[in-house]
Amino acid sequence: MDFLFFAFLWYIGLSLIPAFIAFNKGRNFFLWFVYGFCLFIIAFIHSLFLKKTVETIEEEQLHAGGKRCPYCAEVIKKEAVVCKHCGKGWPFSQTSASDIVQSKIRADRSAEAKTIAAEAERFLQGRR
Ligand SMILES: [Zn+2]
Repeated sequence: MDFLFFAFLWYIGLSLIPAFIAFNKGRNFFLWFVYGFCLFIIAFIHSLFLKKTVETIEEEQLHAGGKRCPYCAEVIKKEAVVCKHCGKGWPFSQTSASDIVQSKIRADRSAEAKTIAAEAERFLQGRR
């Protein structure tokens, strides 16, 4: 009787393994515990091949410092100024957005200056 009791306890402990694996991938712990209890080997292998749910992946990204786009609700990087999913600009980081515009203007001006300098040089060489 003692042996059966401990074997039963051991089997319950074993059934918790696929339940924990599936739970970490966003599945219902109790259902996976029952599944593991009824069909341990199948549930265990199944749990190893499970893919994480979209919610779990997004939660991990948010936990790692990501933010949710207010337009398309996809999770994007904390430093992102433009959403990579919908392409819209991030409304709460206007300072960094204006920084980008300023640096773009600066780059355009220096490109323009280089073009003018090259034209001037060509002009001067032509006169020599
Ligand atoms: Zn978006």
